[in-house]
Amino acid sequence: MSLFSAVEMAPRDPILGLNEQFAADTNPNKVNLGVGVYFDDGGKLPLLQCVQAAEKTMMDKPSARGYLPIDGIAAYDAAVKSLVFGNESEPVKSGRVATVQAIGGTGGLKIGADFLKRLNPDATVLISDPSWENHRALFTNAGFKVDTYAYYDAEKRGVNFDGMLASLNAAAPGTIAVLHACCHNPTGYDISAAQWDQVVAVVKTRGLTPFLDMAYQGFGHGIAEDGAVIAKFVAAGLTFFVSTSFSKSFSLYGERVGALSVLCQNAEEASRVLSQLKIVIRTNYSNPPIHGGAVVAAVLNNPELRALWEKELGEMRVRIKAMRQKLVDGLKAAGVKQDMGFITSQIGMFSYSGLTKDQMVRLRSEFGVYGTDTGRMCVAALNSKNIDYVCQAIAKVV
Ligand code: PMP
Repeated sequence: MSLFSAVEMAPRDPILGLNEQFAADTNPNKVNLGVGVYFDDGGKLPLLQCVQAAEKTMMDKPSARGYLPIDGIAAYDAAVKSLVFGNESEPVKSGRVATVQAIGGTGGLKIGADFLKRLNPDATVLISDPSWENHRALFTNAGFKVDTYAYYDAEKRGVNFDGMLASLNAAAPGTIAVLHACCHNPTGYDISAAQWDQVVAVVKTRGLTPFLDMAYQGFGHGIAEDGAVIAKFVAAGLTFFVSTSFSKSFSLYGERVGALSVLCQNAEEASRVLSQLKIVIRTNYSNPPIHGGAVVAAVLNNPELRALWEKELGEMRVRIKAMRQKLVDGLKAAGVKQDMGFITSQIGMFSYSGLTKDQMVRLRSEFGVYGTDTGRMCVAALNSKNIDYVCQAIAKVV
């Protein structure tokens, strides 16, 4: 008998499990469209030039590694604030945003969840149906009851917007609504600017607490364009949470660079909120690591490196869009009868392909093309070498 005798084997993470299966697959043509990572046209994970330039400057002047403050690098937090809210925005100027560096976007969500649990322990959390698979687990583990709001409409191949509004309208005041700021994961379908206005209005009249998850800023229509939704919530006079991830936009997945920002009513409130966020951090992991935050701060705070980053991010965005079009054209050329044009109306890294679980299983076992059972494919992993093969494989299973 050991302390662990009764410990059950936890289910494998669906995406990481897929990766293991992919690694073991001996098919020479195998393609991994499962994991949410951007690869360049050569199939490689990019190391951005702006990141390399910032790192070179840092290495030329090596510095000792003391502890960071609990809330992270001040210049990093300031850069996040101006990226999310705008440098000249009223919330930044009035000092009513509390921002902390976090261990990736996931860390930002978790700090926010733990803080919210103290503020409003009985609140329900609403996530989109479907959502990033970790949203449910993360908020459940923070002690919340997690439910969904309507989102994906499989028949319409788009957002069930009436359903979404109805779900939010039916939510009790204080309900935490987790909203994908842009590039919805997993479906690839975002709501329009006019629809956002309606969501903001419902959130306001129902007294919901918005938690915007911004994991793909710059991957949709542009940095400012993707960030525009934040200004709508600000203009409505709401207080809210925003988690930021730089994993994709800086291709810094393993450095775990993210943040949580909380927009408060005034600067005094923000300083009280910040003090509580610091307690959450202190009692979880004490303070964040230096490297990733220092790189991102160096890039965002230097005009030349910032311009280089915007250029490189723009190239990633444009390449993904080009791959969407190639996928649509390639599927048609491979003989797929149904119109797959909806793929170009989706945005960001992912595409809900509409393929069934059986079709996805066949894609894996017969062709070594890996996507999730839900039909989600990472368009950002397609390239000029694998696209034809993927199109032909899909054509054979649909
Ligand atoms: N939110 C969403 C919607 C995501 O897709 C992801 C990453 N896949 C995250 C948060 C977490 O980002 P990070 O890897 O920076 O923790």
